[in-house]
Amino acid sequence: MIKYNWDKHKLHEICKRLEDALEQSLTEEESEKIIFDITTLYKYLDELEYPNYDDYSMLEYLNKRKKFFQNIPFLIDDFLESARITQGVLIEIPNWKRWSLSKDDLLELTHDFYKNMGRFFYKKFMVNFKDRYKNVNFSQSSDSNDYGVMIPFVTTKKALIDISREFTALDFTVLVHEYAHAITLQASPNYMRFNESLFSEMDGHFLELLAINYLQKKTNIPSSELLKANFYNLFSELSQSFYTTITLLKEQEKRNKLFTSNKELKQCAAHLNINPNNILKHLLNIDNSCPLYLTAYMFAIELYYLYQLDPEKALYIYKKIITSDYSEDLKIYEDLKKMGIYPNTHLEDFYKEAKETILTRKKV
Ligand SMILES: [Zn+2]
Repeated sequence: MIKYNWDKHKLHEICKRLEDALEQSLTEEESEKIIFDITTLYKYLDELEYPNYDDYSMLEYLNKRKKFFQNIPFLIDDFLESARITQGVLIEIPNWKRWSLSKDDLLELTHDFYKNMGRFFYKKFMVNFKDRYKNVNFSQSSDSNDYGVMIPFVTTKKALIDISREFTALDFTVLVHEYAHAITLQASPNYMRFNESLFSEMDGHFLELLAINYLQKKTNIPSSELLKANFYNLFSELSQSFYTTITLLKEQEKRNKLFTSNKELKQCAAHLNINPNNILKHLLNIDNSCPLYLTAYMFAIELYYLYQLDPEKALYIYKKIITSDYSEDLKIYEDLKKMGIYPNTHLEDFYKEAKETILTRKKV
């Protein structure tokens, strides 16, 4: 059950205003934007009620997951490759350091981070940041399942941001992540299309990695390596969930007949070297956002590596992606490759680096 952080009445009020505006809207373009905003809000409000999946069997879950991968045949091999690289890689993350920055200090740190990103980002960041006391909400992490949420409004190009405070360095990286989305809302020539795209989480994840580096340089917070490890682990877990799901779906397709029982499914998994006890956990990990996050992680890591060598080029590519017209995911994917960003090139190094930083810390 996702609890709702923004005042529900406030959102319904905004919906009402938008619905009135829709009636008055004169052009098709204007209506389209208003409908996007209303739909976004309703989608968010709907998440209050999580569907109850308890009644589904593992088989039903498996077949429901099919739809998440239907539109991305060109990425399946890359996902499988990252699953191969990350297989069995789990870095033990020690307890996070408690980090009780005040809201104002958190906002200020985020402001400094974006100020350091250069004029393009800073200007767009400030559009929302100047209203931070109205459009950023901080709640307790126990009230929500999400670390952070950004609700975009294409009619005004403004955003509402909600951060569930963990009181660790995550509060900062999540805030940077949500502001990255708000900047894209400003920068994108067609945010409605961007929002639907496979690459819609890449902005947040890439800037999260830069925020981790920033923390390491600017503060003495020792948890930054752990943050990085956390990022790796999330990616490796999602990759494994993807691998399990897609392997079982492919096997079913090969047999040309649906599995008939959970027992049969488990037997088949064991045969394919998949731990039958983890199937349900993996299937539950797969949802709408899974392909988005996998894509985002995969490309954010490569862009981050490029940034170490050539920050200007990395930011140039990043800007190009968020300002592209998003006519087709495949085109963005090919453009990224043309610009030298190939998925999985540095993934192995990345995991090694995370392991080493943690091992070094433990020795000290
Ligand atoms: Zn995001």
